[in-house]
Amino acid sequence: MGRRTRMRFVKNPPSNFYFIRRIEDPLYEASVVLTVAEFEAMRLKHYVSLTQKDSADKMGVSQPTFSRILESAHQKVTQAFVEGKNINIFGGNVNLKKPFLGYGCLSCEYEWEDPQATQDSKTTCPKCGSNDVYFLVKNPL
Ligand SMILES: [Zn+2]
Repeated sequence: MGRRTRMRFVKNPPSNFYFIRRIEDPLYEASVVLTVAEFEAMRLKHYVSLTQKDSADKMGVSQPTFSRILESAHQKVTQAFVEGKNINIFGGNVNLKKPFLGYGCLSCEYEWEDPQATQDSKTTCPKCGSNDVYFLVKNPL
């Protein structure tokens, strides 16, 4: 005979269960922007279920800093829930540790990864066969 679950009071139901864009108001900001660090903080704490200490260690920040990042993420996600906004994730000061190394093609704008890529190597575009390719390094964000 387990304890009865107490009723939870919810002041307002979510304004939009599917969190799709409201387009009727042109001034309505449809999205909140989560930084990659905020996303990672939520992932480590609530998805991987690490402690704040372990999460902070994984991200290379102090626990107070991690706590601040997580709090900011919670505020944004809550705002998205309450106001029915999309959540976009990009930007912020993060080190993705593994830079993109490869080439880009000037003819067709295709970009491909090659961990052995160097400034001097000669290669051709695998998509269009052009020799007009350039060395490409991306340290994202
Ligand atoms: Zn190409």
